[in-house]
Amino acid sequence: MPEKEMDVQKLLKPNIRSLRAYHAEEIPCRVKLDANESPYSGVRGQGSEVRVNKTLQLLNRYPDPQAKALRKLMAKELKVKPENILHGNGSDELIYYLITAFGGPVLYPVPTFSMYGIISQALNEKGIGIPLDSRFDLDIDKIIQTIKKNKPKLIFLSSPNNPTGNCFSSDRILKVIKATSSHITRHPSLVIVDEAYQPFSGKNEFLPLLDKFKNLVIMRTLSKIGLAGLRLGFLIADEEIIHAVNTVRLPFNVNALSQKAAVEALKNKKQMHTNISSIISERKRLLKEMKKIRGVTPYPSDANFILFKVKNADTIYNSLLHNGVLIRNMSGVIDNCLRVTVGTPKENRIFLHKLKRLS
Ligand SMILES: *Cc1c(COP(=O)(O)O)cnc(C)c1O
Repeated sequence: MPEKEMDVQKLLKPNIRSLRAYHAEEIPCRVKLDANESPYSGVRGQGSEVRVNKTLQLLNRYPDPQAKALRKLMAKELKVKPENILHGNGSDELIYYLITAFGGPVLYPVPTFSMYGIISQALNEKGIGIPLDSRFDLDIDKIIQTIKKNKPKLIFLSSPNNPTGNCFSSDRILKVIKATSSHITRHPSLVIVDEAYQPFSGKNEFLPLLDKFKNLVIMRTLSKIGLAGLRLGFLIADEEIIHAVNTVRLPFNVNALSQKAAVEALKNKKQMHTNISSIISERKRLLKEMKKIRGVTPYPSDANFILFKVKNADTIYNSLLHNGVLIRNMSGVIDNCLRVTVGTPKENRIFLHKLKRLS
């Protein structure tokens, strides 16, 4: 081996060696329905562009490390105090901070959002995945058993769940919260209800419970409602928890342009709600039409995507791609399943048309 060669793998921490860089498809195609993005941009009209543009002239300055304007607006919207909110560069970063601050074991159902497991491994914390039941709901007995046995520090529950699309039943989530609430048990844990897709479910049961359970943390994001490019996620929790996570947050984690654009988007609530309603009604139509296709079994969804089973997922995935339609192949996670994001009416028509022809 030449002198300048070096075995990077050997130098790496053992827990990092088996990690692979996160791979997001960047295949150019006509219809992109793979990443649960909104087909509509969240910042539009009413002079928003002009005001965001003004921020460009202030880029010589560091952004507000506390994102005060943004947190104040969010707090008003959610009827909590700004002190109950922490902003992240996407919720991904907040997951990173939570695991950095509290450590593991980290418990989550499977299949679910992959970042809980990936970040646990990156931070050398034990991740424990508990399989969902046959209806994609929480296996509550197994979860309670595991809580007692392994005493996790953090429990991540994505509801609606990605990639299955359903909300977990509220009473089961509540059981998990109660089982780990410090004034009830001797094995306290934080329960993070990841509500990335909450705007599409219309359910808002857990936010009002924040006052009652100190171990409850709500996580939201602007990524699925038209602002994935901004990278903005939020934790809503007890002040003491926010304070604890804040100690590991990098000072300027959300840049000035993102802060400004988010404020503009949140001010234009009407536009945001119109876009969400359109996606919900398209989801209903898409589900109905997919049910009619022989060999296609779609699962009901509370999110902006639909999971569906086919006879041969790899074939359908590749054929759709060949026809300019990119969706997500989930067959490695759930047998012969694919996940399609709800797009514009036109995009959904193209997807349905191609799927019919290929199935
Ligand atoms: C997409 C998604 C997120 C969003 O992550 P960001 O970093 O905010 O883009 C969080 N949780 C789940 C379950 C998701 O599917």
